[in-house]
Amino acid sequence: MTAAESLFRKEFGAEPAGLWAAPGRVNLIGEHTDYNEGFVLPFALPQRTIAAVGPAPAGEWTVCSTFDAQSDHPAATLDRTEDSSRVSFGVTEPGEVTGWAAYAAGIVWALRDAGFDVPGARIALDSEVPVGSGLSSSAALESSVLTALIDLGGLDLPLELRPALAQRAENVYVGAPTGILDQSASIRCQAGRALFLDCRSYEIKQIPFDLAAEGLAILVINSNAPHQHVDGEYGARRKSCEEAARILGVPALRDVPLEGLADALAKLDDDVMRRRVRHIVTEDARVLDVVATLRGDGDVRAIGPVLTAGHASLRDDFQISTDLLDLVVDAAVAAGAYGARMVGGGFGGSAIALVDADRLDEITAAIVRRFTAAAPAAPRTFVAVPSAGAHRLG
Ligand code: ADP
Ligand code: MG
Repeated sequence: MTAAESLFRKEFGAEPAGLWAAPGRVNLIGEHTDYNEGFVLPFALPQRTIAAVGPAPAGEWTVCSTFDAQSDHPAATLDRTEDSSRVSFGVTEPGEVTGWAAYAAGIVWALRDAGFDVPGARIALDSEVPVGSGLSSSAALESSVLTALIDLGGLDLPLELRPALAQRAENVYVGAPTGILDQSASIRCQAGRALFLDCRSYEIKQIPFDLAAEGLAILVINSNAPHQHVDGEYGARRKSCEEAARILGVPALRDVPLEGLADALAKLDDDVMRRRVRHIVTEDARVLDVVATLRGDGDVRAIGPVLTAGHASLRDDFQISTDLLDLVVDAAVAAGAYGARMVGGGFGGSAIALVDADRLDEITAAIVRRFTAAAPAAPRTFVAVPSAGAHRLG
């Protein structure tokens, strides 16, 4: 029995009607490009959030989570405005439910706001996705609850419209101004594939990404430093990008082609803004570069240096890396990784490294050695196998 089922039994004294799972994600390349209407290339993690869900009277929702029990989780900082791991709510407007339960209340609100008759529900959550580690535990939570409520209520919401609805829950109800990357990955990814998403048209292409067949692996290194103060920094980056697009007279930075970068930079007076623009424009080009390599017959290892260049751009131009993440990337490349970069919103969280599968242990050990010399605790590491998006388990 899953932990979500056990929690459901304990909290509600009944069996759930079903189980739904939604994964966390890593982004292979394409960081902060989503809200610039550009390109991203995430894949879903094997780690996921499971929602055990059963019916409740109309207009009543209760959520609980095993989250508290993960006390060995150094990165776990549950913002507990609601001082309870069990929260009940009725029909609400943004701002009424706060803390972690807002992610679930936001999904209910966004569905209702889109005109759906959302069934009352009791929801027990259990997650393997590290929280605040740039692996998108928030989207995993939203996507598991969204998929469960859609199935339970027989709601007619096609897959392609679900990410924007979950994003709306996070933007408007939770109040986090994130782009569409995380929810798209958690909902639309497929096993063995990376999701090439155009964040303007929402068009997707599933790109075969079978690393094991190539003798390769993606190692995830969680720096154990939860991304903090990220909202203000994220908002500032976003504002700077939008302001630059306005000055350049384009709808979004996605519309500045790589060939036009020098001209665009010449039109901007502010050095910080020039850096932000340079990151976004080169990052979009890196996504296209990686997609072309993965689709071609060439060597997948060739994407390594592109990942490392992406890290340098996040560190120097977008300025969202940390000393520990820089150290992880340096240590990975020095130990023989083909490439490495920090992932996620920045200011903490995780990094990825592309390595030969048969050198995984050796490279991991080298990174851990360098890391523990500089930090109080060892990083958490795991291999990220591209996994399935949100779906019903049973
Ligand atoms: P990330 O998405 O990178 O993990 P966020 O700050 O976007 O980090 O989301 C983390 C927040 O999501 C947590 O602080 C908590 O409010 C909520 N959350 C995530 N997973 C769970 C869970 N299993 N149970 C309860 N709340 C969760
Ligand atoms: Mg998140």
